[in-house]
Amino acid sequence: MAFEGLADRLQGTIKKITGKGKVSEQDVKEMTREVRLALLEADVNFKVVKQLIARIKERAVGQEVMESLTPGQQVIKVVKDELTNLMGGEQSKIAVADRPPTVIMMVGLQGAGKTTTTGKLANHLRKKHNRNPLLVACDIYRPAAIKQLETLGTQLDMPVFSLGTEANPVDIANQAIAKAKEDHNDYVIIDTAGRLHVDENLMEELQQIKADVKPDEIFLVVDSMTGQDAVNVAESFNEQLDITGVVLTKLDGDTRGGAALSIKAVTDKPIKFAGMGEKLDQLEAFHPERMASRILG
Ligand code: GDP
Repeated sequence: MAFEGLADRLQGTIKKITGKGKVSEQDVKEMTREVRLALLEADVNFKVVKQLIARIKERAVGQEVMESLTPGQQVIKVVKDELTNLMGGEQSKIAVADRPPTVIMMVGLQGAGKTTTTGKLANHLRKKHNRNPLLVACDIYRPAAIKQLETLGTQLDMPVFSLGTEANPVDIANQAIAKAKEDHNDYVIIDTAGRLHVDENLMEELQQIKADVKPDEIFLVVDSMTGQDAVNVAESFNEQLDITGVVLTKLDGDTRGGAALSIKAVTDKPIKFAGMGEKLDQLEAFHPERMASRILG
């Protein structure tokens, strides 16, 4: 399960402090040391850890007394609040264009789960928001990617727009949007090309699509199993494209949690969804508070 190591370590530390009727500065110091080590071990970015620990210390030592909680419980509440804030605080909503269709551009490296997530997101929009999306195959470099999206469309019984591998991705996207207007599709989800690494050609192509299509959302899909690499990838995509949100995939695996805990702080862009498995219904809206509760037990 995701976060197992982190949860184990933090829960041990928390048990020690929860029951305390009095919490000394020394107790807080010991607790924050344990939290710091647990976060670093979970591959959380070290700058992020440093800032988080400073905030926990400041609040835990100088906190206002709340009658309903023991001092130990109050310290834990501070840790939970700060972990929640770190992951973005409030749950973040998906955009709706003033005039349909709302256009979402999916970007990310190959293998992160971009195409699968395109299908999952379409399914989510239909099931939870009663929407009627059109999927668009803009990865002209891999015929297999187009085929994969078409297969997902068949499984979901949803339309897929493709012009094969010969057309230009900007043209494909524009024609798809025109088609969505004609057919009354209220969302257009564009599956773009991925590469093995961040490179200039990829970014240029994505920038061209962005400039022309002016999407309402640009979701970066990253694999949570890749830890700090996922954070670095998010940083470069954000610099080049000014993404609007992140989808973290493979949170059902035994990821240590570093990406989930660092991405918002490093990019200042919210995690909007979490992929919890390979199936098309295994996408969840990302709730920072629930995730913090899961980690702290
Ligand atoms: P793309 O190259 O980024 O389009 O990646 P794909 O959508 O083809 O996904 C790559 C692999 O990751 C596939 O085997 C997917 O089934 C798998 N995958 C995607 N999302 C998840 C997830 O949330 N959990 C798990 N366990 N596997 C996932």
